[in-house]
Amino acid sequence: SESNLHIVVVGAGQAGADCVNALRQQGFAGRLSLIGDEPRLPYRRPPLSKACLLGQAGVDSLGLRSAAAWEKLDVEMRMGQSVEHLDRAARQLQLLDGSRLDYDRLVLATGSRARRWTLPGGDRSNVHTLRSIDDLQRLLPAWQAGRRLVVIGGGYIGLEVAAAASQHGLKVTVVENQPRLLARVAVPLLSDFYLQLHQDHGVEFELGQGVAHLLGEPEVTAVELSDGRQLECDLVVVGIGSLPNTSLASESGLEVNDGIVVDAGMQTSDPAVWAIGDCCRHFNTFYQARMRMESVPAAQEQAKVAAATILGKAPPAHAVPWFWSDQYDVKLQMIGQPVAEAELVVRGDPAGGDFSLCQVQQGIIVAAATLNRTQEFVALRRLVGERIAVDAVALADPELALKSLLPSAV
Ligand code: FAD
Repeated sequence: SESNLHIVVVGAGQAGADCVNALRQQGFAGRLSLIGDEPRLPYRRPPLSKACLLGQAGVDSLGLRSAAAWEKLDVEMRMGQSVEHLDRAARQLQLLDGSRLDYDRLVLATGSRARRWTLPGGDRSNVHTLRSIDDLQRLLPAWQAGRRLVVIGGGYIGLEVAAAASQHGLKVTVVENQPRLLARVAVPLLSDFYLQLHQDHGVEFELGQGVAHLLGEPEVTAVELSDGRQLECDLVVVGIGSLPNTSLASESGLEVNDGIVVDAGMQTSDPAVWAIGDCCRHFNTFYQARMRMESVPAAQEQAKVAAATILGKAPPAHAVPWFWSDQYDVKLQMIGQPVAEAELVVRGDPAGGDFSLCQVQQGIIVAAATLNRTQEFVALRRLVGERIAVDAVALADPELALKSLLPSAV
């Protein structure tokens, strides 16, 4: 029976930590190991680009659970240990210290890593990425009012860093090679809103501009743009996306395609191996398509789904994906994936920073975003997630309570 199994989870981030917890909650009483290469207990990453940079949270406050709570879960924790090789035929892992560990069921939860600036200058000590507590601790000494910061990349992490920096008194320029911010993930109205919000806080932008060179030695002193202009700077933060950590899977012959390929139950083609979180490309039952997601809610959900299927239960369905971002005093919550062709319904006044956006297609809200409207977020998650029919004209009425569109509770 399952209680004789040894389940090993590799990667002690959000997904790995949630998975061992879910296995215990779902009744697994056997041997459970969690291996992570960072030398600390599992922690939350979102505050790294928010509260931590604003000086409002120390790294000690980021833990997902206390040492005592980990004790209680009865998990063999090997922190500061990296898994170097996976031998699927022998069902065995090789760790960096040379030791070996046998498993009956394996969960790969290795996350993703920040994409680095690979052109000359990217390895200078004042060029940063932000993925881990170590990265934050390298950045903080330079995080001083009056310093000139260039952020490369106008995605969520780049913009959160820019917001925190300008609030902290740094002089910030964001360089983005697309003509608008958040180009891949947000509708143009939202891009415009964030551009204005940042400009109101003194952040400068170079949109539609590539970076040609990072100049200066031993530290970067200027960023040269593709049109030849140079931006002088004291430090650079690179926020140009991330790459899934898939080497254990690929070297052991598992299918990898921008993520470790798994089914709706988070299982690979090897019946003893699962993959969850940022590192995987899963079959999402809400969208009926394979996709890779990089968010805390996705990691949490996938951890629970994997725990269920490891224990022989049917995989629960995936909910509509959602995501949040905090910049200045604006909380953004996004539901579903933006659809280019959909009709856009705006609720409230974008200029006031208190509004919602609904994308309507064939009488259904296919994606939505709320800004400082948490109550509407709760209703919209159901409207999108349950594909509830709505009238676009009625939806635009700011007096309409979105809750009233939900089927009444029985
Ligand atoms: P991770 O949390 O990256 O954990 C993977 C762990 O595995 C890491 O500790 C890694 O070092 C370890 N590992 C890798 N390979 C090995 C190996 N071979 N052996 C041992 N250990 C290994 N999401 C949101 O929803 N909202 C936000 O506002 C938000 N903000 C973010 C801000 C920042 C700065 C960052 C970096 C991310 C943010 N995210 C946010 C994304 C979210 O943090 C990730 O989607 C989530 O952490 C994914 O969890 P994971 O467990 O898959 O990966």
